[in-house]
Amino acid sequence: MKKYRGIGLKLTPQRLAILEYLDGNREHPSAETIYAEMRKKYPMISFATVYKTLEALKNKGRLHELTIDPERRRYDPDTGQHHHLICIQCKKIVDIHAELPVTVPDDVEQSFDLVGNHIEFYGICQKCKTERRT
Ligand code: ZN
Ligand code: MN
Repeated sequence: MKKYRGIGLKLTPQRLAILEYLDGNREHPSAETIYAEMRKKYPMISFATVYKTLEALKNKGRLHELTIDPERRRYDPDTGQHHHLICIQCKKIVDIHAELPVTVPDDVEQSFDLVGNHIEFYGICQKCKTERRT
């Protein structure tokens, strides 16, 4: 499993399962969700194992931690530049891959070298909108 080398952890079957679960995952899962998924296959897995693996990936820049969900931290294996939109009801998070024209005031820009931005949008998804009506 070459692509998983260099995360600074011994690759146990449990950790490998976490890495595989995250690979290409677009759901922005929380640690709790990942733990619940992993327990289906590894009932003895501990929450600490999940959490430590996520921390290690995060520290190596292989995973982004999102704070858009006020209830729990969410994780994104897509570390490329993009923005997020969350449904305020079901907490579904979707990606926004677009360059959005935002600027900061001149006086701020002069005192900082800007290296990026991350915009958080809030809304109600189609599914929740439909359920609301019924
Ligand atoms: Zn929703
Ligand atoms: Mn994302």
